[in-house]
Amino acid sequence: MTPKSAAAAARSTVHGYPRQGPNRELKKAIEGYWKGRVTADALRATAAELRRSNWKQLAEAGIHEVPTGDFSYYDHVLDTTVMVGAIPERHRAAVEADALGGYFAMARGTQDVAPLEMTKWFDTNYHYLVAELGPDTVFTADSAKQVAELKEALALGLTARPVLVGPITYLLLAKPGPAVPADFEPLTLLDRLLPVYAEILADLRAAGAEWVQIDEPALVQDRTPAELKAAERAYREIGALADRSRVLIASYFDRLGDALPVLAKAPVEGLALDFTESGAANLDALAAVGGLPGKRLVAGVVNGRNIWVNDLEKSLSTLATLLGLADRVDVAASCSLLHVPLDTAPERDIEPQILRWLAFAKQKTAEIVTLAKGLAQGTGTITAELAANRADLASRAGSPITHDPAVRSRAAAVTEADARRAQPYTERAAAQRAHLGLPLLPTTTIGSFPQTGELRTARADLRAGRIDAAGYEERIKAEIQKVVSFQEKTGIDVLVHGEPERNDMVQYFAEQLTGYLATQHGWVQSYGTRYVRPPILAGDISRPEPMTVPWTRYAQSLTSRPVKGMLTGPVTMLAWSFVRDDQPLGDTARQVALALRDEVHDLETSGTSVIQVDEPALRETLPLRAADHPAYLAWATEAFRLSTSGVRPDTQIHTHMCYAEFGDIVQAIDDLDADVISLEAARSHMQVARELAAHGYPREAGPGVYDIHSPRVPSAEEAADLLRTGLKAIPAERLWVNPDCGLKTRAWPETRASLENLVAAARTVRGEL
Ligand code: GLN
Ligand code: ZN
Repeated sequence: MTPKSAAAAARSTVHGYPRQGPNRELKKAIEGYWKGRVTADALRATAAELRRSNWKQLAEAGIHEVPTGDFSYYDHVLDTTVMVGAIPERHRAAVEADALGGYFAMARGTQDVAPLEMTKWFDTNYHYLVAELGPDTVFTADSAKQVAELKEALALGLTARPVLVGPITYLLLAKPGPAVPADFEPLTLLDRLLPVYAEILADLRAAGAEWVQIDEPALVQDRTPAELKAAERAYREIGALADRSRVLIASYFDRLGDALPVLAKAPVEGLALDFTESGAANLDALAAVGGLPGKRLVAGVVNGRNIWVNDLEKSLSTLATLLGLADRVDVAASCSLLHVPLDTAPERDIEPQILRWLAFAKQKTAEIVTLAKGLAQGTGTITAELAANRADLASRAGSPITHDPAVRSRAAAVTEADARRAQPYTERAAAQRAHLGLPLLPTTTIGSFPQTGELRTARADLRAGRIDAAGYEERIKAEIQKVVSFQEKTGIDVLVHGEPERNDMVQYFAEQLTGYLATQHGWVQSYGTRYVRPPILAGDISRPEPMTVPWTRYAQSLTSRPVKGMLTGPVTMLAWSFVRDDQPLGDTARQVALALRDEVHDLETSGTSVIQVDEPALRETLPLRAADHPAYLAWATEAFRLSTSGVRPDTQIHTHMCYAEFGDIVQAIDDLDADVISLEAARSHMQVARELAAHGYPREAGPGVYDIHSPRVPSAEEAADLLRTGLKAIPAERLWVNPDCGLKTRAWPETRASLENLVAAARTVRGEL
């Protein structure tokens, strides 16, 4: 290999593209099909048209090789379950009767049959459906979807490359099925699964695939030697297959680490690596193993997960280094473009100058094409693009939006003491007990009350100008009144205002903080037909004025019981937004924390004695590799403390997280130094309470006794039993009584009944103390 010939051969490609279409046509067609308004054939036609127009766009933009098989009606992991025939027993009849209907039944469940579990795809905000496997699982190859989509692209005269979820990743992401022992390891099914992949590879070759991409993102996580051995064996066997196309193994989201030598030496023809921020270590590791002689390297130099314009010169220099390390270096995004919105062009509310800092899927595609051209034909052929890129980067770097001197000097002046409460917990607890005068086992909720149709209508009316700000305020106040009087009547001890004014717990604050941008069309798939528009954390963050104080103060004016102020924590504000890539995440978190600290201060000054700062994303933001956890947890917990430490000792700080297993971050939860934490616990029978106790967690906690994910109303006896279980781990002086999470997705009737039972349970158990 010579760098020169590797450069001349450079091509452009992507791993995947947003599925929804410019106006979310796919969502509309699928939801129409569910409601019976769109026929299966019409849905298939819409899907085929979207695939066709995506491929044409990619090809017209100059992408040399388009991906196929990345399209999905719901989720690509569910598609893989279908491809390998691992349909759970309970869904088999439905799938056999009607493949499309059965597919959606697996995704969403039916009246009688539970869906597959859904969970986050690595550290993205995309959710996949978890395969359920067991010792009796029989795999059978079903290559129909992959073959059909490949043929569609080939028929358009395009060079196309099918993309599959790899066998190792598929098994590592699966879980034991319902009737299977919990310690069953799906990876033990590898020998049964590989022949199915062999069959699919043969079918794809017969259909005309020159290359097939096999995705193994699970190998960027910490893996045991046995797991790495399994990967080695899998690709030795795949490599040895006689009847297959050339194989490209793809990794993304982070560095491969110990898996890099395994994949680099596998007897296949190519490797795709992430060379953006998170995968930068791949470069050194690749050089250390002597590169990929004789192979194709697909270089992910354009970040597929953020929305910032690429630094083309920096990417070119990475590519130049890579040229000496493989026979052919292709340019790509670091991962599928599924994780970014489609196109910046329709955005009207963002200033044109700032819009140029952003790159969504379409813009990233153009960057990839430009880089491949520069690599293959020399940078002299892309001078105009480079000049424009330099100007955009300079405009971003020099903008007052990204560099607010007041925010910067305040953040720089933060001391260790600013992120510590003045008194230790025990002293604070005594002061709070005296100040709040709560009973043992105090009752509270997590914040939101049912988001009714009327509330959504009120917001829509305000946006459309059908009502004015005063009219909107009236409607929200009426709702707050209703929520407060219900809680008083029910006998809840620490009240909330119910969050009726919030569309979303991140967006609500993002809209009010300077430095955040909102998009009109920046939809990204969260799961199935659910799309979200994450706000963009673009600049230095400041808070021009109080964000929650008037609503909280109003609620407090209606009652003599304490009303809890309700904020979203700095880590969650980052996790559910697109974040800056021009400074460390910790710096951004600190700016958000300082803005929240001001809000906390203003709440306290206006008479709020209990303030909750939610951090449901603390755990999901954990980096993929354990070696990166300590640094993350250090800035994350500091940011939380910085936002909450400016208060008096008798002001009680709460936090909330929505998961039931958190053994790996219990120390971090302790480090938050919140006075009270509420957690999800109802389904796991108070498992978190035991975990906190095992850790010696010294502060107050409210493990949930009401599972809000279901419309089911827990009986008072059931809630009391959970409380008794909680009391075995946490003493009565430190145990709170609350639901698992906010009530915004619930309806009023079940909310009413459940909270009445929750209060009754607290009273019963208090009587037993
Ligand atoms: N306070 C928020 C609510 O009750 C918390 C939501 C969450 O934890 N996801 O809705
Ligand atoms: Zn929650």
